[in-house]
Amino acid sequence: MWLAAGISLPVLAAAIALVLMRTPASDAPAPVDLTPLAVATTAAAPEAIDEGPDSVEITVQPDDTLDQIFRSIGIDIGTLASLRTRPEVRKALDILRPGDIITLTYADGVLQSLNRQISDTLTLKVSRAGDDYAVNYIENPLETTVVSHHARIESSLFEAGQQAGISSRTIMTLANQIFGFDIDFALDIREGDEFSVLYEQEFQDGRYVNDGQVLAAEFVNRGKTHRAVWFESKDGEVKGYYTPEGRGMRKAFLRAPLDFTRISSRFNSARKHPVLGVVRAHKGTDYAAPTGTPIWAAGNGRVIYAGRKGGYGNVVIIDHGKGISTVYGHMSRFGRSLRVGRSVNQGDTIGYVGMTGLATGPHLHYEYRVKGVQKNPASLPMPTTEIPSVYMAEFRSQAEVALARLEIADQDVPDQRFAQR
Ligand SMILES: [Zn+2]
Repeated sequence: MWLAAGISLPVLAAAIALVLMRTPASDAPAPVDLTPLAVATTAAAPEAIDEGPDSVEITVQPDDTLDQIFRSIGIDIGTLASLRTRPEVRKALDILRPGDIITLTYADGVLQSLNRQISDTLTLKVSRAGDDYAVNYIENPLETTVVSHHARIESSLFEAGQQAGISSRTIMTLANQIFGFDIDFALDIREGDEFSVLYEQEFQDGRYVNDGQVLAAEFVNRGKTHRAVWFESKDGEVKGYYTPEGRGMRKAFLRAPLDFTRISSRFNSARKHPVLGVVRAHKGTDYAAPTGTPIWAAGNGRVIYAGRKGGYGNVVIIDHGKGISTVYGHMSRFGRSLRVGRSVNQGDTIGYVGMTGLATGPHLHYEYRVKGVQKNPASLPMPTTEIPSVYMAEFRSQAEVALARLEIADQDVPDQRFAQR
């Protein structure tokens, strides 16, 4: 199993520039006054008699200049002037910001090294080599590690994620960007659903910074397995989440057109019809949710109705072309910029959950219509994009690696279900 060895992908630090600076003999440093001046900063006072190099860490104060700092410590100022003749270094030496940390080492008043962090990912290093000073800009990049986690849902998606050590940001990526076109996260999540996710985490100097790209994921919802891999072609032309077969995860319509994170205790109450006192054929899907929960356009389209309409109350109707329209009823209010005739994009907030019209509790009544007739979108084939055939070989090799790693994530859990694979 060669893949087991490849779980982490450290990015090596790289020196991006190397400038050797020779100090001409005629510019040799003037004789140095070894008497230390007052140290204005947090630096420890240097010991003038010490044979070895001293090291001092300076926290830059407002109005500090490097000249003042060198003088206050008693480091030869001529070296600084020489370094400043190099345009590559000049800016990094001239512009100091309060709070910057500069580390200096020196011996007998002669600069041995200067380290200064330029940005989160770049450090200037000046170091003495004989009569020369080598100037390096050291990149201190984010180190990317690939991790995987497996979770089983006991109460909610987010709690399961939390218990498995998965950030809510990554959970949202799973729900909104990867599986939200196939799984109704408002109504269809069940106790016992399981998911695995393989994703990048970024570290700097061993410190966690944030979660990065999700590389592969699996979601078992009510016994049905959905799998996805991230693909980005080397030429950058094709990128997105795809099934292992190369079909796009993104589809023309969201399964649940509202912010499902606002819906609580979904295993019980969400399945009950929250409203009607009378029995009638119900065409559409009801999402019980707190008043004010954002309602999203299920797909791209044009608003053809926004107003009151009988039992629907405040309702928005969007025309998606090809005879498909979607209907959103009982809204408490409409999205701020929503107007009849305007186009909307999938995921745009078009209104907020309420209980206007025939509703005894706050909920979204959602309909998906084909040529005016209500249909169950889950039962209809949704056209998807596919990996262009010229990228198929590249896709397969990437997908194979990612899915194999994801399978290792599954096996990390002592669950016999995975033992047969
Ligand atoms: Zn309804």
